Amino acid sequence: MKNKLNAEIIAIGSELLLPEATETNSSLIARMLFSLGVQVQFKTVVGDFEKDIGRAVQTALKRARWIILSGGLGPTEDDVTRRGVASVLGKPLAFNKKVSGQLQKKFKARGRLFLKIHERQAWFPQKAILIPNKTGIAPGFILKEKDSFLISLPGVPSEMRQMIESTVSPFIKKKRGAESTLFIKRYKTFGISESAVNEALKDLMGAPGVTFGLLAKKTGVEVSILIKEETPQEIKKALREIEARIKERLESFIYGENDETLEGVVGRQLKNKKKTLAVAESCTGGLLCHRITNVPGSSAYFNSSAVTYSNEAKVKQLGVPFRLIKKYGAVSAKVAMAMAEGIRKTSRSDFGLAVTGIAGPGGATAHKPVGLVYFGLADQKGLCFEEARYTSDRETFKWFASSKALDMMRLRLL
Ligand code: ATP
Ligand code: MG
Repeated sequence: MKNKLNAEIIAIGSELLLPEATETNSSLIARMLFSLGVQVQFKTVVGDFEKDIGRAVQTALKRARWIILSGGLGPTEDDVTRRGVASVLGKPLAFNKKVSGQLQKKFKARGRLFLKIHERQAWFPQKAILIPNKTGIAPGFILKEKDSFLISLPGVPSEMRQMIESTVSPFIKKKRGAESTLFIKRYKTFGISESAVNEALKDLMGAPGVTFGLLAKKTGVEVSILIKEETPQEIKKALREIEARIKERLESFIYGENDETLEGVVGRQLKNKKKTLAVAESCTGGLLCHRITNVPGSSAYFNSSAVTYSNEAKVKQLGVPFRLIKKYGAVSAKVAMAMAEGIRKTSRSDFGLAVTGIAGPGGATAHKPVGLVYFGLADQKGLCFEEARYTSDRETFKWFASSKALDMMRLRLL
């Protein structure tokens, strides 16, 4: 089998196939595998049917070295993972007397009646290595089949996690030795579209040992790279090379890495430069202020915010001249800058940042379409503005607009 080093996760449970289901076990398993340097190549979700489970296992055996199953180890009629695995591997189920004794003890300790159906959890495919279940009832098991390992775990997330930590993870580590190492890093951008990022990086994307991923989010496009090498030293070298090229291509569109946020980065810049900020918002309805103040320690640089939704509020609270609103409209470069200057002055801050726009779906005029936004930035030296247009639902619009405002501040502080 060609390069069978990767893993496949099979999540078992008919409930996981329902429209409202969220299948989370595979993420947990993938995280564990990733930390061990094992890459997940396939994920399968299958209902509680012996035949389907068998088919999924059969397929996985052909392409994965590590096959991790979750779910269907319980005592009820719909828990058929054991039977599905046993039949496809041709390893009949055998009764384990010791486990049966342990199960009975567990039931007694919990004051529960041990019934005939509970005995099902003491049957395992022949030659299975058992995985103790310290927090729940049913043990899991590990089977070796040619050059693959099949690891079956219960579906209850807390039980599964405990068994991964105490048995599965050490087992994989021991069997694998140092086959390869994985490393992931994310670069966060703002102000550039997903296709433009793709265009800028496309010749890097075929590089051996590096897998690229692009994700368009409301806070900008994220570029993730996954590096696979033999040793940590090789990872470092590969990262140095690829990172230099990514940064060279995307330049100041990159605002941060991994879990960094625009608001966090702007906060750090303001703090380092010992500057203060105040914001005036219309269409973002306070989201900009919310995001800025989500950053711990923001009181060191953030002074105040005014949500001035109506024209009257813009005039009264920020001192925006009414004639500007009348002449250019509330959604205009002139008003955005007047708002920024107004909040800067009233709050006595170094910077005033303002947003005014048409979130939609209504509110468009003959000259101004839905989604049009103006951003104003004021400091001691003067005023500037930016214009943008977002065609999205109201909430996404607010996220885009507040991100753009933060990015304007970030670029100003670079
Ligand atoms: P038992 O029946 O003894 O509880 P089991 O191994 O049969 O254990 P399941 O019945 O398949 O486990 O799942 C138990 C519960 O765990 C489910 O009701 C569900 O809430 C949760 N669960 C199972 N699989 C997943 C999954 N892939 N992602 C998230 N939750 C899951
Ligand atoms: Mg189940």
